[in-house]
Formats: sequence, C-alpha cells, structure tokens
Amino acid sequence: MTATNISATRIPPLSGADAEFFSAARLRAARLQPYLASAVFSLVPVAQPGYGTFGVDRWWRVYLDMDRAREWGIAATAAVILHEAHHVVRDHHARADRISVEAHHAHLWNLAGDAAINDDLLEDGLALPSPVLPKHLGLQTGLLEETYFRHLLEQEEQDQAQKSCGSGSGGTPLESEIDQEPDSTDPAGPQGIDQVEAQAIRRAVAHDVVAAQGTGQNVSPGLVLWAQDLLNPQVPWQSLLRSALGSSARAITSKPQPDWARPDRRSDSRPEFPRPGSRHLRPQVAVVIDTSYSMSRPLLNAAVTEINALLQRFGVSELIVVVCDAAATPPQRVRRIGELALSGGGGTDLRVGIAAAAECRPSPQIIVVLTDGFTPWPQEAPARTKLIAIIIGDHAPLPEGTGITSLRIKEPR
Ligand SMILES: [Zn+2]
Repeated sequence: MTATNISATRIPPLSGADAEFFSAARLRAARLQPYLASAVFSLVPVAQPGYGTFGVDRWWRVYLDMDRAREWGIAATAAVILHEAHHVVRDHHARADRISVEAHHAHLWNLAGDAAINDDLLEDGLALPSPVLPKHLGLQTGLLEETYFRHLLEQEEQDQAQKSCGSGSGGTPLESEIDQEPDSTDPAGPQGIDQVEAQAIRRAVAHDVVAAQGTGQNVSPGLVLWAQDLLNPQVPWQSLLRSALGSSARAITSKPQPDWARPDRRSDSRPEFPRPGSRHLRPQVAVVIDTSYSMSRPLLNAAVTEINALLQRFGVSELIVVVCDAAATPPQRVRRIGELALSGGGGTDLRVGIAAAAECRPSPQIIVVLTDGFTPWPQEAPARTKLIAIIIGDHAPLPEGTGITSLRIKEPR
C-alpha cells in the first residue's frame, strides 16, 4: 500500500466529436462575453449522456449532455456554457449557504439564480434554449438572486418542474455528481477548481468586467455591481488624500478646494465613500504601479482595484499612471481603468517611476505608489509633492522619509 491511498476520481476527457463541439461552443462563449473568458476556460467538462441539459458542480465541473448540445447548436450551447459559468463565478453555492437555504428549498434558490443569470444573458442578446426568466416567476427584472429567492419562498406554491443545475448553482446536487474535492496537484490535469483558485478566477473576471465596462462594452448592470462589490478597495482614499492635500491645498489659495463638510448627495448609496461637495477640487494625482517580476497577478489586481477606486469615487477626472519595473514607461493619462496598459516583468527600482511622475506637467500634488514593497525608495518625496506608498502584503517594510506616508493593505486571497 502506498501513502497515496486516495481513490481519485479521474475525469475522462471528452471524446473526439464531443470535444470538438464543446471547444467550438466554449470559444464562442468566450467571444460573446470576453470578460468571462477566464472563467469559461477554467470549467472542467464531464460527459453526462442522457442528462438532458448542462449542469455545474461547486468545483467548476460542468456536466454535459452532448446529444442535447448538438440539438441546441453551437450558439445556444455557448449561451448555456456562459449560464453555468455565471453560477460558479457568482458563487451561488456559497451564497445559498450564507442565507441558509434549506435542502427542500434548494430548487427555489436554483430558480432564483437562473432568473438572475438569464435576465443578464438575454439583455446581452444571447439565445438560451427555453430560459427561466424573472417574468416567468411573476417577478420584475434586474433584481438580485437573494431577492428573487425571498419572493419565491413567499410564492411557495411554485411547482416549476425544473431540472437541477447541480451543486454549483446552489441547487440540489446531481445524482451522478463527482462527490470529491479536486486535487490541484493531480498530474492528470485539473479535475475541478478548488475554493482558493475559484476566488482568484472570480477576481480576474471581476477586473475584466470593470475593464470591459470602462471601454464602453455592453455589460449588464447586475454584473458590474457584482464586480465592484467583489473588488472592494482597501485604501481609505478619502482621509489619505485629504490629509496629503491639506497643507498643499492651503498653499495654493487661488485654486478651488474640496468641501468635505458637504459630501455629494450621490454618496448616500455608498456612505463609506463620500465624494467632495460642489466645490470640486481636481487634485493632480499621479500613480506609479509596480509591474516587476515579483508582482503576481493577485497583487496587480489589488493595485488596479485601488486605481479604479481613485478614478471612480474621488472625482479624480484623469490620473497620470507610470508603469514601472526597473525602468519607467512613458506616463499614461487614464480616465477609465480599461484604458490602462500594463507591461513589465523585470527587476524593480520605483525611484525611476517616481522621478518620471514628478516631471509630468501639470505637476502632481500627490504621487501614489502601489507595490509589494521590494524596491529602493527615495529619501524624501520629490519637491512640492506628497508621496503615498501603498504596500500590498506584509513581506516588505514600510518606507519612511520626509513627505512620505506609508500604508499597508492585505494581499488578496
Ligand atoms: Zn442554471
């Protein structure tokens, strides 16, 4: 007996014609909603002849009746693949637990999730085969899964005979579901997606959603809300910018100043992020983002989340962004996060990027540096500027020096 006495479930790959059809449909799905591409390509296909539809489990394994898929055709199959990807991206399984959906109500939660997903897919013009929609449940469009579920509970007499979408939808598990957590070290390749990896994919999708919206692509509002919620920024920008601007703003008396005592009324929906009142100050802010080799995708995502927060929530109409590893790229003027182009991957010397940012005209009042902290720092902030160093993760020390404010934020899971 060896130590590895685990009867790992090997998922046999799809056979020739099925694999070809599925690949074509998956590619179509990724083109239809490009911001979901990383999720769509993470799904692990499992053949399920005779099932009658597609389903997904909580480990991102999609169960496929490929005969049914051929009846649907490529376009509709692509839409169904997107539907299943939405279940796991929106974390319907865990959300069901969070609101304590009981087993005998799992089918209602499944319906609520389907209605919310299909509503969004239809708005995108995707042709699903016989989709459950909010109107079929007697409900209005554009609401959250949890709201649909509460309504359905009230309408308890619902007896829609629906096939379950599997445990990944938070519904009843399929009878034939693989009852085993995936082993990410399996040499045979991915047999499913574990929770840590799933969260990383969700964050990547959320960034792609925000970026797609930023470039003017049509993204359903529900998905944008979901993404912004997931990417909740950590930096208390309001107090940081205010204290950094405080003295320099007073020094430039001719310039209009923010009236933080009279927050914008729009901030009611997000009381934790007040906007300045009507006397808008447009602070000149430059950002230096570390794109050296040590900045992993999660760290970069955290950095981009903070840049997005600066752009969206603080009336900073345009940011100067300097992308920097050991060398600085020419400053980019960014109005929407989707415009930001990242490159890098080399060693690190952010002093170069900070100097490049300081030379921009008009001169920045504040230079924000987003980094894992593994870089040499200047002794002091450049003349007439404040330097705000945001260190992501707790591996490197916080920099100190004249005019430098440092802050540590958590490395995302
Ligand atoms: Zn479903």
